[in-house]
Amino acid sequence: MKLEARLSHQKSIHMTDNKDIKIIDKIKDMQSLSNNIRKEGRSISFVPTMGALHEGHLSLMRMAKEKCDFLVVSIFVNPTQFGPGEDFNKYARDLEGDIKKISTIGVDAVFFPDVDEIYPDGYETYVEVEELQKPLCGQYRPGHFKGVATVVLKLFNIVKPDVAVFGEKDYQQLLIIKKMVRDLHLEIEIVGMPIIREKDGLALSSRNAYLSDEERVKALALSKSLAEIKNMFNNGNKDTGELVKTGTGILKENSVSSIDYLEIRDGASLEKPKEAKNGDIAAVAARVGNARLIDNIKL
Ligand code: AMP
Repeated sequence: MKLEARLSHQKSIHMTDNKDIKIIDKIKDMQSLSNNIRKEGRSISFVPTMGALHEGHLSLMRMAKEKCDFLVVSIFVNPTQFGPGEDFNKYARDLEGDIKKISTIGVDAVFFPDVDEIYPDGYETYVEVEELQKPLCGQYRPGHFKGVATVVLKLFNIVKPDVAVFGEKDYQQLLIIKKMVRDLHLEIEIVGMPIIREKDGLALSSRNAYLSDEERVKALALSKSLAEIKNMFNNGNKDTGELVKTGTGILKENSVSSIDYLEIRDGASLEKPKEAKNGDIAAVAARVGNARLIDNIKL
């Protein structure tokens, strides 16, 4: 369905709690709103998302709400961070459902642009964080972090936030954004928030919706393997080979066989440590059914 059919140029959806959330789909409108907020001396916090919102997203928004006077959330499924054959087309899109979920948070504006608005014909400028984008997901999703860094920089230039909040669920992404902000002298505070999990340990993800009941049980093996690695580390085992071997064993016992990686990496540089140490992360990416799931834990 055409964006224009779902939204007028800029409209406010009237929420049950009587608070208006501005829904903005044009870059110029978002920029002029942000300029006005800043002229009034009010600060702006920002949470970029791809929609299909869940408690993990909401936890970022609650923190962002605390941080500044005006909270902007973006909902944009960014085509440049998806590779050929990935789930760009089937990624859940449900603006109304998402707005309902955020109606109690105090979000002031939702930026919901169309793909052509962000990438008009002839678009050709990209930003890359050269080293941090290489390991882990970078090896398995070529071009992914180039797409992420580019869209986040574009969104920063559109929303003009003072503070932007990201989840540690996408740990490598968080490091890349922090590095980009430092390297390009952006005056934006980047806040990282802990992973929100289901009671049984499964990290919340929009992609969990792809899982059947049986696959969901299998998917639990990701958080279980990371928890066991942390447990072994806490008991004094610093041998990354042994830690990874045990974690991989847990994945395989649970029939998670399509593993992209399970690795211990330095929590800041993402380099491979000789021995596991405090502050390292154990990170995993694996396919369960049609879902490519990621998770990590700090040692
Ligand atoms: P996404 O919509 O998947 O692009 O995610 C938008 C933001 O929400 C990113 O900063 C993610 O790291 C964060 N996020 C996603 N899942 C979780 C979670 N389970 N806990 C905390 N943050 C999350």
